[in-house]
Amino acid sequence: MHFSDLLANQRQYFKAQHTKTLAARKSALQRFKQLLLENEAKIYAAVHADFQKSEHEAFLTEWAILIKDIDEALGALPKWMKAQRVRTNLVNLPGKSYVVPEPLGVCLVIGAWNYPIQLSFAPAIAALAAGNTVILKPSELAANSAQCMAELVEQYFDPQLFTVVLGGVAETTALLQERFDKIFFTGSPAVGRIVYQAAAKHLTPVTLELGGKSPAILTPSADLPTAIKRLVWAKFLNAGQTCIAPDYVFVHESIYLECLGLLQQEIEKNQYKVGNKNYVQIINERNLARLEQLLDKDKIAFGGQIDREKRTISPTLLKDVSFDDAIMQEEIFGPILPLLPYTNFEDALSYIQDHEKPLSAYLFSNDKTEQAAWLGQLSFGGGCINDAIMHITNPNLPFGGVGQSGTGSYHGKAGFDTFSHRKSVFEKPRLFEVPLKYPPYTTTKMGWIKRLLKFS
Ligand code: NAD
Repeated sequence: MHFSDLLANQRQYFKAQHTKTLAARKSALQRFKQLLLENEAKIYAAVHADFQKSEHEAFLTEWAILIKDIDEALGALPKWMKAQRVRTNLVNLPGKSYVVPEPLGVCLVIGAWNYPIQLSFAPAIAALAAGNTVILKPSELAANSAQCMAELVEQYFDPQLFTVVLGGVAETTALLQERFDKIFFTGSPAVGRIVYQAAAKHLTPVTLELGGKSPAILTPSADLPTAIKRLVWAKFLNAGQTCIAPDYVFVHESIYLECLGLLQQEIEKNQYKVGNKNYVQIINERNLARLEQLLDKDKIAFGGQIDREKRTISPTLLKDVSFDDAIMQEEIFGPILPLLPYTNFEDALSYIQDHEKPLSAYLFSNDKTEQAAWLGQLSFGGGCINDAIMHITNPNLPFGGVGQSGTGSYHGKAGFDTFSHRKSVFEKPRLFEVPLKYPPYTTTKMGWIKRLLKFS
């Protein structure tokens, strides 16, 4: 399996300057929008075939978000593409200095399965807006979505600009042998490491959108009914298969039992069933078995029903969970929420700091001191105060992790920047200059240099 021809064709196309102008970028984005508008139903059908995601959720989390991305880029591109003047320092006067954003070249985008369309197409949109060519490798685990994207991209785009490669580990490994100008990966920290190593061979810049355990903290100062409503929605959306879902929740001991009751009520109110389209399946049997393994039956406070045939796990709450339990050792990525009681707020913060920096963190609290401590002490990719997940929906907030949860970010202008190089240019007038840097080096020249650099 060789992809060198594919890359060579895209490189040739890029070199021929076909992708760089504002007109070329706008045309690619308009084409993308047309693809989405003309195939909305087809996209919903594909995502539904993969894990029975409803149209309601698919509209919000897979389709509409992409249309908004494209519209924003179309409107803002002239501004984003503009060279930025910066101040010229004294030594270089007269002259002018500016930073020009330029595309990187041939980009590889590797997608994850949990929001199969959005997580593959959103980086591709950003890459095209930034004037690059794109090879997209969606996740093979959402096979129908991957197939759908491959067909649509083939139908709407010149493969020299944008193409899809289908496949799993073997195909991705072969792609990673090639020299790309940028690799954008969404997936687990374990595979992120493999991608990073492969990129290092060619010194290719990478963006790694990874995962991990995203903590939530519920304190007595929170408005409990609202907090619980938002927390439940965020956790059980997509059956917990969301990289920024609250993984576990610290609940102050004084409100622990009350919260347990409110959580149950909220789950019941939401009527989570695949049959009524309020819920989705677990992506495959392997993940179902993994989640079953993590579920300590003695600690189930609510839910815990597993239907192997329907490939579902009902929304589940776990109590009396200890830090040593299996469920606390890895990212859950499913509809199981451990509730951990805490006594001191600082202890909860300390636990989080002792573990890998999370992709997201959530604090439900109206206490300004708690808010300041949470914000000041914890390092995490992004998060919310008194909400969960919603930070991802604001394109003005760069989205990405830190440390083990990722490197780099995208969405809105951040996506454009991620797929651009900031080229620094200093422009000198044709003739005039202060000739202090040239030999012969004299004490008079040195005196002037020191005065100019403010050393004397
Ligand atoms: P994954 O790492 O298993 O797979 C991601 C991609 O890597 C797929 O396209 C897959 O084909 C490829 N891949 C798998 N094994 C490989 C190997 N050995 N060599 C090369 N390529 C390989 O992740 P996943 O199961 O698709 O997604 C779940 C993980 O992704 C979770 O950790 C989740 O938190 C994270 N995630 C992060 C974000 C984010 O935006 N930060 C979004 C969604 C998911």
